[in-house]
Amino acid sequence: MVSQPILVILMGPPGAGKGTQAKRLAAELGLPHVASGDIFREHVKRGTELGRKAQPYMDRGELVPDDITIAMIIERLSRPDCERGALLDGFPRTVPQAQALDERLAEINWCISAVPYIRVSEPVLLRRLSGRRICRNCGAVYHIEFRPPARPGVCDVCGGPLYQRPDDSLETARRRLQVYFEQTAPVLAYYENQGLLVEIDGEQGIEEVYATLRDSVISMMQVPA
Ligand code: AMP
Repeated sequence: MVSQPILVILMGPPGAGKGTQAKRLAAELGLPHVASGDIFREHVKRGTELGRKAQPYMDRGELVPDDITIAMIIERLSRPDCERGALLDGFPRTVPQAQALDERLAEINWCISAVPYIRVSEPVLLRRLSGRRICRNCGAVYHIEFRPPARPGVCDVCGGPLYQRPDDSLETARRRLQVYFEQTAPVLAYYENQGLLVEIDGEQGIEEVYATLRDSVISMMQVPA
């Protein structure tokens, strides 16, 4: 049997710990980690035209328009490192994005393997987001309450300065969650109707979340579509 590419779509609200889990799962499955937020931030940092278009939306905690986002992800999935599949993180976030992805997958004859959804309640999300700090040098992630660095404001790994992502401020984090629950919740229903959604309790410890996530994705990959 010719092995089918594997496409895993990891879903969960901002602050669910999706990024951390996605990196680890992608590495274990041998797939590229395609994170729409990371790609946008990279464009903003490099000052590209795409970055200039996306930045105002990102700063307000709103979604970048679908046409820009869809084109960016479809281009990314057509690169050679995605030949065997990918782990998508942060995309799709609207029903039109999910539909555009389905159309593209039909063209290239790919199926979605699994859509794990990391569920976390809103008060926990707000606390996690507003306390998050990131190293400007190496990208290591801390939390002022749950994972503080040894010296406040300084990275344990490389000594670099820690900063708060502008969209993690309490006000913008609230807006991001509101946007998530309004625009992204329908995407969950979209995949649930296709029998692809599997819910993971995101309020367990990081290791327990990972073990549940990994086991459910692997068991879904073994079920022929
Ligand atoms: P994230 O790191 O996934 O929380 O994404 C950071 C920001 O990038 C979001 O608040 C949006 O402004 C933008 N973004 C990321 N993914 C998408 C997407 N699929 N659709 C629209 N905007 C997105």
